[in-house]
Amino acid sequence: MKQPFATPEQFAEIAARFGTPFHLYDERGIRENARRLYEAFSWNSGFREFFAVKATPNPAILRVLREEGCGLDCASLTELMLAERAGVTGKGIMFSSNVTPDEEFRLAVELGAIINLDDITHIDVLENAVGTLPDTICCRFNPGGTFQASNSVMDTPGEAKYGMTRGQLTEAFAILKAKGVKRFGIHSFLVSNALTSEYYPRLAELLFTVAAELKEETGVAIEFINLSGGIGVPYKPDEAAVDIKAVGAGVRAAYEKILVPAGLGEVAIYSELGRYMLAPYGCLVGTALREKHTYREYIGLDASAVDLMRPAMYGAYHHITVAGKENAPATEIYDITGSLCENNDKFAINRKLPKIALGDLLVLHDTGAHGYSMGYNYNGKLRSKELLLKEDGSVELIRRAETPEDYFATLNYGAD
Ligand SMILES: *Cc1c(COP(=O)(O)O)cnc(C)c1O
Repeated sequence: MKQPFATPEQFAEIAARFGTPFHLYDERGIRENARRLYEAFSWNSGFREFFAVKATPNPAILRVLREEGCGLDCASLTELMLAERAGVTGKGIMFSSNVTPDEEFRLAVELGAIINLDDITHIDVLENAVGTLPDTICCRFNPGGTFQASNSVMDTPGEAKYGMTRGQLTEAFAILKAKGVKRFGIHSFLVSNALTSEYYPRLAELLFTVAAELKEETGVAIEFINLSGGIGVPYKPDEAAVDIKAVGAGVRAAYEKILVPAGLGEVAIYSELGRYMLAPYGCLVGTALREKHTYREYIGLDASAVDLMRPAMYGAYHHITVAGKENAPATEIYDITGSLCENNDKFAINRKLPKIALGDLLVLHDTGAHGYSMGYNYNGKLRSKELLLKEDGSVELIRRAETPEDYFATLNYGAD
């Protein structure tokens, strides 16, 4: 059974002290998971995870990951600024952006970040924006077509806006080499929320083969290969967690089969995971505020889609536990909603749950990544606070809730 990382007593105490709704993160879970990832790739001495900042852009979380050895993956000006505030600079930052404004390239280079070019035309854009090319450059690859594992299509990169074609990749490295760039990497991100341990190994085979070919074609020796994000988490109770040890072993097998014989046995493996690093280690907690008995049974929370957009946006499943009723039979069928004037503001539809009383705390699981960060302000709703459950059991406010003053801060409507 899927259980929250905190006890009903802890949730009640935290709700009494801070008020709901809130996102709560589990420091211990984050650290233990990061250590499992590093252990799975310990065979590769250069391995490094660059946490995708967009998943959970809070410096308190980023610092925990930094302490576990992670760098950060940024894609915008403010994400670069967040990285700096979290104490991560230089080659600890991977800048994997697209449609990149000049000022973002400039800040990334100023911070010493590894630039991951989304397109061949960005070589000139970067050179013009910065005045010179940094000595290390990564290029993002898009193989096009469909991407398959075990005879099933995992995704369709040919429809994705990211990355360079195979031909452009060769051309880009030839140009970069001629322009004096010294160190090179390749990157590709093909599948989201992959629950099979096959995804990284298949992607690794593809990228390792490309690295070997690039060496033949251009003389460029790739120094790092970034397998990017995409490892999934079991949102649903009947799904199994990815076996990260098997993932590491699968990538190692491909490494020994392809890279080592190609004379590329020193290549560092990078990852750029977001969801896998954080999703299970965060939850959104709201209070059952109102009930309705119409054509369906409704429970309305004090949280809404502005705090967690994934169900509204993707129809995504987030498991729900009624705190204190973990073992009560699921005798009811509810739609669990927020308060937006928007009918897709439903955290769950026709969900079997125990009988809910007003005032109950509902825990929405697996909101630690792409949860708070996708928030918005529709209906003038204000985003929730973020709390960190520390390893010693204490709770720290790591982001206050928005206030009406925040909402009005960007308006320029003159004196009244
Ligand atoms: C979003 C993103 C990631 C992280 O994706 P997850 O699915 O959360 O692992 C990594 N790299 C890039 C470039 C991304 O855009």
